[in-house]
Amino acid sequence: MSVPSSVLIVGSGVFGLGTAYGLALRPEYKNTKITVLERVPFPAPDGSSIDSSRIIRADYASLPYAQFMAETMPYWRGEWGEEGRYSQSGLALVTENKPGSDDATRFLNEVVKNITEQLGLKVGRKEDGADVTLFQDREGAKQATGAKGGYIGDKGMVNWTSGWAHAEDGIKYMRKKIEALGRVQFRTAEVKRLLFNSSNVEGVELVNGEHITAELTVLATGAWTPKLIDLRGIASATGQVLTYIDITKEEEDRLAAPDQPVLLCEHDGMFIIPPRNRVLKVARHGYGYANPVTIPNPENPSEKITVSLPRTKLDDPNMEIPAEGAAVCRDFLRRAIPSLGDRPFTYTRICWYTDTPTGDWLITYHPKYKGLFVATGGSGHAYKFLPTIGERIVDVMQGRDRDALGVEMRRRWRWPEQRAKVDHVWTDDWRGEGRKGMVLDEEYKKGVRAEGSRL
Ligand SMILES: Cc1cc2nc3c(=O)[nH]c(=O)nc-3n(C[C@H](O)[C@H](O)[C@H](O)COP(=O)(O)OP(=O)(O)OC[C@H]3O[C@@H](n4cnc5c(N)ncnc54)[C@H](O)[C@@H]3O)c2cc1C
Repeated sequence: MSVPSSVLIVGSGVFGLGTAYGLALRPEYKNTKITVLERVPFPAPDGSSIDSSRIIRADYASLPYAQFMAETMPYWRGEWGEEGRYSQSGLALVTENKPGSDDATRFLNEVVKNITEQLGLKVGRKEDGADVTLFQDREGAKQATGAKGGYIGDKGMVNWTSGWAHAEDGIKYMRKKIEALGRVQFRTAEVKRLLFNSSNVEGVELVNGEHITAELTVLATGAWTPKLIDLRGIASATGQVLTYIDITKEEEDRLAAPDQPVLLCEHDGMFIIPPRNRVLKVARHGYGYANPVTIPNPENPSEKITVSLPRTKLDDPNMEIPAEGAAVCRDFLRRAIPSLGDRPFTYTRICWYTDTPTGDWLITYHPKYKGLFVATGGSGHAYKFLPTIGERIVDVMQGRDRDALGVEMRRRWRWPEQRAKVDHVWTDDWRGEGRKGMVLDEEYKKGVRAEGSRL
């Protein structure tokens, strides 16, 4: 692939900044003009990459992602994790001994097999220096996790070499690293549409009408991408519920103690990350809500299409989460940390995944338009690759396979040969036993978070 004279990257989350960093590091691009556009002042408060925390783990049932993450973990344990950006708290992956939990158990077994047999992590007790502690019943779970009362599942594992990152701080650190290279221009500007001609994209039109041209345009616009290209049956925005409660210093000391891992329930997707700054987060990794919106087809404006797009507090500052989402978070908090069970949520948010049918990302040239590359489809699991994703993105851009993992990833990230036959993609990536097919406005009709009230 020839080196373009200019690259215009739209979006400054994990994929956009990752791409900018990857390009800025490569000597081949030393004469390439690299620009990053972001629709709101950085860091975008409603971007998927911006939050108090993201889980950092190589605990994948999919071996290539586990291997990619095994490559990435040392960065988090090094300078990327400094100044509180990464905490190696451990990650408890748990499920329940009940009918219907077979898939969760199978998933868990795959994870254990990958991290022990393939990545070589040692199984045993933490006190004996093991990396991974397995348990088969509630008593074992209590002992393994040092749980101080409350729900912790009844079978599963703790990987003591996993943890969590302060997501916003990680993204700001990435931007600082890029700025230090002095190769990338940053600009706050919203892209209205791509400048298509029949077989080419020549750049973008901003909402203020200005045109910016580039030899290569990179769309890293996360869950907003279906607004700019036709991604029906390829990727779709799904809204995930996040809730936060304020806690005291004493509560934080107890819940952020070194023996308190992240808790992630495989059967229902509920999770709690150890607190920071006296705020505790309770959330669900699920199939999420679709927000269907009818818009002109960005590639053929005379046609109307319906796609799921984000709706955030920047669209509606009073936006709350549906009662359904508040109730599941409340119920989980009560079970997991009974002493905080009725503490009101001080903040809630819907954060948007860009889901693909398989959970594989979409990192590839557009098959129809020359001059257009996409880096999206994070499917709720891309943050942890922040330090290394850019190198792999630029490999794909260059058509370069540095190793077997690169070959496999390029295959997984390519443009699909066929679009899934649905308007809103419900991913088949494992999300526990959660509900598929929820629509945001339908859930709102049933009620919104009724807080201070005790859901
Ligand atoms: C609730 C939640 C929990 C998650 N938990 C984890 C986890 O524990 N571990 C993990 O590894 N991953 C996790 N993820 C996934 C991870 O955060 C995402 O995969 C990743 O952040 C996606 O990055 P992105 O660059 O695609 O999107 P974003 O970060 O959303 O970046 C896209 C950017 O494009 C900008 N943009 C959009 N449209 C335009 C336009 N027209 N013009 C200019 N700019 C535009 C947006 O403002 C935004 O800043 C989670 C995600 C969510 C939502």
